[in-house]
Amino acid sequence: MRFDVLTLFPEMFEGFLSSSIMKRAVDQGLIAPSFINFREYSTDKHRTVDDTPYGGGGGMVLKPEPLFRAVEELTHGETTKPPVLMMSPQGIPFTQRKAEELARHSHIVLLCGHYEGFDERVREHLVDEEISIGDYVLTGGELPAMVVMDSLSRLVPGVLGNESSAEADSFSTGLLEYPQYTRPADFRGWKVPDILLSGHHRMIEDWRRKQALRRTFLRRRDLLESADLTEEDRAYLAELKAEDSSED
Ligand code: SAM
Repeated sequence: MRFDVLTLFPEMFEGFLSSSIMKRAVDQGLIAPSFINFREYSTDKHRTVDDTPYGGGGGMVLKPEPLFRAVEELTHGETTKPPVLMMSPQGIPFTQRKAEELARHSHIVLLCGHYEGFDERVREHLVDEEISIGDYVLTGGELPAMVVMDSLSRLVPGVLGNESSAEADSFSTGLLEYPQYTRPADFRGWKVPDILLSGHHRMIEDWRRKQALRRTFLRRRDLLESADLTEEDRAYLAELKAEDSSED
């Protein structure tokens, strides 16, 4: 998967790509990130990328010309245009589902804002989608771009080694993940549930499913509305609801 990141601060990505799973993915050629400092696409002698807002007010707004020029050069001659994503607190909330949808593309362009953000014409005429990583405002789009790149990279076949798997992760199944344990089986008297030591794979699967349902019910009931549930899941949820209302 190719990521072209337009940023004024490419050095911010160095640490992110220099260790662990992301480094290995780059080394193995499974992901190909490149960073384009759009200041280089500014044509005036001061390499200006921002200016004061029309109508007054504080802060600086990113000018449209360098961004249009950079994206047009990047995508020139491509038969399938990659989606151009703007990092923006006003965008649609980024979810695992959105990550899965975007991971179907082999090339993605990410625009990182700074200061007061982008001239509105970038939003209107250059961008396919605006992505928000949450209802808070950051100083720039670099951290959001890393969040998007990281979550998409995990979905590229081969990126996750044996030590982790995306299949049962929270949200991938529509539910939060079940609790995980490792050795020791007894830590300070806190014991791993017996079922996980039993070797009964069917029973373990059943326990995990119920735990995932319970956890989602207790923490993120909203997710249950769109989760893929079996008759058995629904019966268990009905039990949880009955327990819950008897406690009220
Ligand atoms: N004035 C803008 C507003 O109120 O919508 C906020 C600009 S913010 C200080 C600067 C840049 O950081 C944005 O252009 C965007 O690229 C990025 N950014 C900040 N918070 C973000 C979030 N929650 N999700 C995605 N990008 C964000």
